[in-house]
Amino acid sequence: MSKSESIKAIGLELGFQQVGITDVKLDSHHQHYADWIARNYHGEMGYMARNVSKRLHPSELVPDTLSVICVRLDYLVEESRDLFDLLDHGRLAYVSRYALGRDYHKLMRKRLQKFADGIKQLHGSMGYRVFTDSAPVLEKALAAKAGIGWQGKHSNILHREHGSWFFLGEIYTDMALDIDDPVANHCGSCTSCIDICPTDAIVEPYRVDARRCISYLTIEHRSEIPLEFRTAIGNRIYGCDDCQLACPWNRFAKYTGEIDFQPRHGLDDISLMDCYGWSEADFMEKMEGSAIRRIGYQCWLRNIVIALGNAAPDPHIESTLKRDYARHSGFIQHHVDWALQQHKG
Ligand code: SF4
Repeated sequence: MSKSESIKAIGLELGFQQVGITDVKLDSHHQHYADWIARNYHGEMGYMARNVSKRLHPSELVPDTLSVICVRLDYLVEESRDLFDLLDHGRLAYVSRYALGRDYHKLMRKRLQKFADGIKQLHGSMGYRVFTDSAPVLEKALAAKAGIGWQGKHSNILHREHGSWFFLGEIYTDMALDIDDPVANHCGSCTSCIDICPTDAIVEPYRVDARRCISYLTIEHRSEIPLEFRTAIGNRIYGCDDCQLACPWNRFAKYTGEIDFQPRHGLDDISLMDCYGWSEADFMEKMEGSAIRRIGYQCWLRNIVIALGNAAPDPHIESTLKRDYARHSGFIQHHVDWALQQHKG
């Protein structure tokens, strides 16, 4: 068994669904990334425009890096409800499926650390660092190079037999390892993700304008939600999965057995009004250990108010929003004004 093969075996043993290895050459991605930044498609995510050189040159981020070990960790949980029905429901909230359970960063980081320890045990000391969406790392490009899947027209990585419902993580190492070949792109003439996107965020194949993307708007964007996107947001209160739901390759996605990713606090089937009713203390307590906590209570409430504005006209929603108006910040009141206007028709 080669060194690379023995390393992959350790990763699979630890519960990663796939391990791929690549080198640090990302030259073919430089132009695409530079264009994306130049067009301001990153919106308020200023960190994407910083440390660009480190992002494109792994050995600038971690000196002496020769290889990148990429992992795939599936997160989709089995649910009885059809997710398109949930999106159409109107009174229930839609939370991006990756965020229903515990924040994956902690689990991923711990497991990557164990993985690195296992590699050191077998092959002796190595210089390394583990990453999980935590530093200027071009993780999708690296995963594609490492053969984890191909980068689809929606920009996510997908796999013919496993779809795209997975997290990525990386170990940068100074070990020289055999590298994997990228897999072929199987998007073909399909445009399902582009067609379904509620806000036309996939402005051309393989290029997403984050400023239009509902995931960005409800998670990364901390200002008021631009008026032009509010109706299209529907009942999505945290993230959006439409491009993944529409992708034909996700018919082949497998469910995760990870306990950490199972829904908590009924987030997979919760009413908008229940979410709206959480106080800041409730939010902080219930969302402890969840990725959702990072957006803070004000953005959480902002998203729910937008979704309530999109719900079917309901005197109870209207009277509740009016009753609470004075206790909200001006930021939330602006969104409540819009929501009430929607209900007036
Ligand atoms: S929906 Fe179609 S175009 Fe989009 S990523 Fe999937 S296969 Fe590719």
